[in-house]
Amino acid sequence: MRDIATKSNTKEIIERHGFTFKKSFGQNFLTDTNILNKIVNAADLTDEVGVIEIGPGIGALTEFIARKAKKVVAYEIDPRLIPILAETLAPYDNVKVIHQDILKADVASMIEEEFKDVKEIAVVANLPYYITTPILMGLIEKKLPIDRYVTMMQKEVAERLSAKPGSKDYNALSIAVQYYTEAKIALTVPKTVFIPAPNVDSAVVHLTRREQPAVEVINEDFFMEVVHGAFKQRRKTLQNNLNQHFADLTKEEVTAILEEAGILPNRRGESLSIEEFAKLSNTFYQHLN
Ligand code: SAM
Repeated sequence: MRDIATKSNTKEIIERHGFTFKKSFGQNFLTDTNILNKIVNAADLTDEVGVIEIGPGIGALTEFIARKAKKVVAYEIDPRLIPILAETLAPYDNVKVIHQDILKADVASMIEEEFKDVKEIAVVANLPYYITTPILMGLIEKKLPIDRYVTMMQKEVAERLSAKPGSKDYNALSIAVQYYTEAKIALTVPKTVFIPAPNVDSAVVHLTRREQPAVEVINEDFFMEVVHGAFKQRRKTLQNNLNQHFADLTKEEVTAILEEAGILPNRRGESLSIEEFAKLSNTFYQHLN
């Protein structure tokens, strides 16, 4: 079968439709069937898996998914791509394209309607890089029945999502993602496989939803607030960042709570494991409520 994603087919399709790339939509189309194979292999697709794709472009990845999965529902924001997708994906009767901004979509209702007869649900996408974090965090925090996410993004963001304590990339986003999922980089991808080539290197991240969050916290919003507070100024100690965050507490009170949590006040946020953050936020929560 003819692939959409070869360089020559991609050029032919966009020229024939007079399509021009929009930077503001993060449009960098994949033109490498090897990489596409690697992405769908990493996603473990079978005819029992329903897939949500974000930003199908001209359908390069969509058709690779459609060949293996039970069904693909793809959200595309750019109205100019809708008629192109109708043509390029015509051979596949298990694809549904929804013309909508993913950040405004009611994904929960879509899942109920479209994925009644699947055993697993995966998100597979070459994401628009300018909104990688809001897309992923939006879906993950809604606690939808999505089993895994296999998504391409800017390499720097991929490194943050999968970073371990003590590494330079470890930050509040690492903890937010790893609280709900197990994160690892599946492959790194050079700029040259895209048209047009982006300015940054890319990587595919594999997130598997945990059955239970990684740690037990009394209040999830409060936990994330404490994590953000602890990373506010990277070079500052926990004591300093948390003094600022909990402005109503005295310095002595913050020190006492840190000690009660078993965490030395002169440590930095980047050195704390997710378990230590849970202990820290639970101890603060108990003092304040
Ligand atoms: N999947 C295609 C590929 O791999 O060649 C295109 C990937 S391109 C990096 C990102 C796609 O996301 C574009 O088609 C763009 O129009 C679309 N997009 C950007 N913002 C979006 C949003 N908020 N909701 C849905 N799609 C969006």
